[in-house]
Amino acid sequence: MAKKSSLRCNMCGATDSKSTPVVEIFDGLALCTDCIGFIDRARDAAVGHQQNEEKPSGVHELKEIPTPHEIKDYLDQYVIGQEEAKKYLSVAVYNHYKRIAREAAKDKTADKKALKHAIAEGNTDDVEIEKSNIIMVGPTGTGKTLLAKSIARLLDVPFAIVDATVLTEAGYVGEDIESLLTRLLQNCDYDVERAEKGIVFIDEIDKIARKSDNPSITRDVSGEGVQQGLLKLLEGSTVLVPPNGGRKHPDQKMIAVDTKNILFICGGAFDGIERKIASRLNTHVVGYGKDESMKKKQRANMMRYVLPQDLKSFGLIPEIIGRLPVLTALDPLDREALLRILTEPKNALTRQYHKLFEIDGVELEFTQDALEAIVDKAIEYKLGARGLRSIVETVMVDAMYDVPSLKVDKFTVDADYVREKLDKANFDKVKLADNA
Ligand code: ADP
Repeated sequence: MAKKSSLRCNMCGATDSKSTPVVEIFDGLALCTDCIGFIDRARDAAVGHQQNEEKPSGVHELKEIPTPHEIKDYLDQYVIGQEEAKKYLSVAVYNHYKRIAREAAKDKTADKKALKHAIAEGNTDDVEIEKSNIIMVGPTGTGKTLLAKSIARLLDVPFAIVDATVLTEAGYVGEDIESLLTRLLQNCDYDVERAEKGIVFIDEIDKIARKSDNPSITRDVSGEGVQQGLLKLLEGSTVLVPPNGGRKHPDQKMIAVDTKNILFICGGAFDGIERKIASRLNTHVVGYGKDESMKKKQRANMMRYVLPQDLKSFGLIPEIIGRLPVLTALDPLDREALLRILTEPKNALTRQYHKLFEIDGVELEFTQDALEAIVDKAIEYKLGARGLRSIVETVMVDAMYDVPSLKVDKFTVDADYVREKLDKANFDKVKLADNA
């Protein structure tokens, strides 16, 4: 093997450096990480091009749509647990694209004469499959966004994540409801046809719940009014979208987008909804004689029993709930799930660090007790899965700083190392700053 310091990239000629490491692929061929990335992207583009040749505007043909089992298998590679949500999503997405494929097929074969004849005979295929928008209820950081993102990646359709909290009724400070679609348009270079088959993930839908049933309360500009506006999008209609988001203004050129085939996936933590579910269950299910442990367990997993009427008690209007027919709950992540999240997903945090060290020719090992110490910290500070990254970053910063200059082949992170680094970095303060 050539000496590391003399390595040069055979493609661009860059010499090995910390900012652009050059890796010897095999004897006589060395490439820098920039060129490796370039080759990867070129290969992905070529493969994608081959796969997309027949479907310039997303999934069209039924045979191209992955089956619910295939969708779930794919989600399993990225999302730990959440079995029920994955199953519901897989079915809903499959049905959604089946519906689009059916319409596309109908359009293709639409022969007016034949249609007239069919109507006269009374045998039109008039069963209309309705849109199946989805709502996911579950604590923050349990994988709602990750699920939606993974689905969009699998289907290769335009995808946008938008936040419901920025929306307010027209005439008030905030953004117009239609601006939800701006991001989607931007993400596919304003290709309206593609956008019209995309997926929009509306986060924090619970924040536009009606604030109070009391009509005397000051006008609820970010609550019910916004829900009414959102209804139009969810139902499927042609709306005018401001190309740059924000508020519409009269001299702006608008883009007309038909939302009929856009799949909306909504997510929200719905803090406190457990109480509403519990009170419903107490009246209708738990009743007298149910043992205490059962009640406790039910309370802990209350989200699982969520029904549309609980969303209504929380403050979503019935029309919106009706337009989100697929309702699924995400489980809180327990210790075991957090441990799995650290190591199992395709792009798990520890895998990413293994890769980073591998580029320096160093084998990285996290011992089991190190992983447990990381998870314990995340649980102690109620940071959940979202906190794992900041904890691991804090633990690894010294190693990433030192290891490239050390002549080592292997670096092991154990529990003592984790605790030492977190103590040194004063993680308690980091955490407080995070939450500020
Ligand atoms: P939510 O949308 O529910 O608030 P996210 O999907 O944004 O949460 O999760 C935040 C991060 O935590 C994700 O990017 C992912 O790294 C990790 N994560 C959360 N839940 C899971 C899970 N079930 N499986 C794997 N990773 C997860």
